[in-house]
Parts: sequence; structure tokens; C-alpha cells
Amino acid sequence: MQLVLIDGIDPGPLRDVLGVAAYARGQEYVRQRRVLHTEWFEDGRVLSGLVRGSGGRVYEVKVDLVDGPRGRLLVTGGICGCPLGGDCKHVAAVALAVAAGPPRRDAARPAAQNWAGAFDALLEDGHRAAAAEERTAIALEISLQHRPAPPARPGAAPSVAVPRLAARLVCPGRGGWVAGGLSWSKLVHPWQVGEYRPAHVRLLHELHALYTTRASAPRYAGYGEEKVIDLAEIDSRHLWSLLDEAADLGLRIVHAHKALGGVTLHGTARVALDVTGGDPLVVAPRLLLDPGRDELSDDPVPVRFIGSVGHGVVWVSAAQVATGEPRLWRLGLARLAAPVPAALQQLALAGRRLTVPAAGRARFDAEIYPRLRALATVESSDGAWSPPPISAPTLARPGLGVALRGGWADVAQPTRPDR
Ligand SMILES: [Zn+2]
Repeated sequence: MQLVLIDGIDPGPLRDVLGVAAYARGQEYVRQRRVLHTEWFEDGRVLSGLVRGSGGRVYEVKVDLVDGPRGRLLVTGGICGCPLGGDCKHVAAVALAVAAGPPRRDAARPAAQNWAGAFDALLEDGHRAAAAEERTAIALEISLQHRPAPPARPGAAPSVAVPRLAARLVCPGRGGWVAGGLSWSKLVHPWQVGEYRPAHVRLLHELHALYTTRASAPRYAGYGEEKVIDLAEIDSRHLWSLLDEAADLGLRIVHAHKALGGVTLHGTARVALDVTGGDPLVVAPRLLLDPGRDELSDDPVPVRFIGSVGHGVVWVSAAQVATGEPRLWRLGLARLAAPVPAALQQLALAGRRLTVPAAGRARFDAEIYPRLRALATVESSDGAWSPPPISAPTLARPGLGVALRGGWADVAQPTRPDR
């Protein structure tokens, strides 16, 4: 059997594509001469090879390649007859066996003319990064998909229809971002996404992993291609660090309706309970966006909370909600400074308000307010109500400074007579 050596494969990205372990084993296999045969197909775009595995069985390997910079080829993955099925040490071995050929044109040159070659190795990482940047960008396209409200239980408040925050992968195409052949399930197989920026693929793969580990995930994944996932079902707050990183990597989040362009992340938001009016007092949830950002809408309305714990929110300006056409809503995404519990989410999504009659104010202040403030900040935008003054704690039993009666739960420091 003959080991065919052809230069031109850039072995650099192999380690990223196949992983360190497969790469190292592949090198070992090349040294052990386990690569029995290599052959090019499809005008040099597909490399095939035979590798003797550890059990003595011979596996047939197909290596997928794309054109890289400076006329070199980049490995995007491969399939293999072994139990792993591909992207394995056998794929690494075939690619490395071919890449290991001495660069014949360089070897033929006198050393004096080859001084610049010494810089090549030094600059290789830069070239590799630049080559990765030249590959196609992926963007995350989001849209709200409305669904009918689930039927309400008898006697319960009407249930709120919760839209999906549908996210699909798109790439540049004629007339804007298009789905092309992209899907979330393809991210798992590097050879199917080799033409895209590795950093984008890696980040989106992580995002998909967060989605598949959500609490509400079905126990068994389907076999179909996963084109759309619901970002709002991601329970992990890591979603926000991934979205921040996406911005750093130039991975854009775009609206499905093209004219709306990009979606930007708007720092941190919180949900407060606003107490307004006179008789009765009205208590209504209000979404407050990062006050440092002038460009933000001053009438944001939450349209979907993210995660079962409510770690983030999708919002739209009230003026847009009034137009009634959700496809045309410009969506804002913000992480929440404090989680918003389910009941408060429902109240905020339904735009419901609660009332306190004049006769009930004392009870509201004494009993309800102290519990409400554990859920959210309670404030009054029109000054109609102010939090009750915190009364001095009284010692229930003199001598036991910890047993408090009256006052607020947050009064933790009893006044001691000996101070
Ligand atoms: Zn294999």
C-alpha cells in the first residue's frame, strides 16, 4: 500500500474541527503508518482514505474540504466507517497524512530565498484567524409567534396567550438574510457548517445546548431537522452572556421582517409595581428599562418573559402594540435585574391592574405592601402613595433582642438600650 503525499491542506484548523484528542490520535496513526491509501475525488474537493483501526479493521474515510486562503484547502470534517461515524481520529489521520507531505516547492528552493518562510509559521495563527473571518457570517433571526391562549380554569383570571420567541439561523443571501440550508441540528456536525465562521458556529451551538437542557425539554429529541427554537424557553441566565458574546463576535440578531433591521440588547430592565391614583389606589406592574439609554422607548410593554424564572424580557413600545400587527413590532431584549415570578409575569403581560379602596389602605400598607416588596420594587410615579414609615421595632420580650413584633421585616437591627 502506498501513502500518497500531496501538499496543500492546511492542517491548522483540523484541531478546532475534530478536537484535540482526535487530532493527537490522528498524528499517532500517521506515525504508525496506519493510513493505507489516500485518493482525491471531485476535482480535489473530497479526499478519501483507508485507515487501519486499533482492532485491525480497515475503515473507509471521506474528508470534506473547502478552499482556504492562498490556494490551500481547509478540512471541514469527515465521515468514517468506524462506530463514531465521522469527525474521528481516522478522519484526522487521513487529513494529516496528506497534509504531512513536505511542501515540495519550498524544499526545492535554496535556503537563502526561503528566509521569509520562517515568518510563515509565526504568522500562521493570524492567517488562520483571517481565514475564519472570511467565511460566511451567521445571524440569529427572531420573531414573535402568537399562539391562542390556553383555556382558563373556572374561576381563575383569564389566561394570557404566550407567544414564542422563534429563533432561526440565517446567512447573507440575495436581498438580505436567508435561511439557506442552515438549521440548529446541523451545528452539531462540523462538516455541514464548514463554510461558516467557526466562532459563530461554536456560539450558536452553545446557545442550542442551553435550549436543549431547558426544564421543559422533551425527554427524547426528535429526529427531524430543527429549524426554529423558542429562545424564551431558555431557563439559564447564561443566555445573556452568550448574547453579549455574540455582539462581540459580530453575530447579529435580526428581525424576521426585513425592514426592521437589527435587534439590540438593552442592558438591564426591571419590573416595578407602580401605585397611582387616589380612591381607589391602582397598583400596576411597569417595565422600567435601563435609564442610562436615551434612545429607548419610554413606554415599553412586556410581551414575553424569558425563562421560567423570568430572567429576561421581550418588550415593544406601547405605541407599536397599539398598531396591532405583531409582525411589524420592533422587539427589544433585556435581561432582568431581578427574576420576575410567574404571577407577576402574568399580571404584567395581561396589563392588569389591582385596586385598593380607600377603606383598605391601612391594610394594604400594613399587610400587603410588606409582602409585595419581596416580589418587586413598589413605587408611586404620581406621588399618590408613599411607603409607610418604618416603625420603631418593639421588643416582644425584653432581654431577647431578636424577637421582634411590629415594624417591617427588613428592620433587622433592634435598638439596644446599652448603646
Ligand atoms: Zn473513524
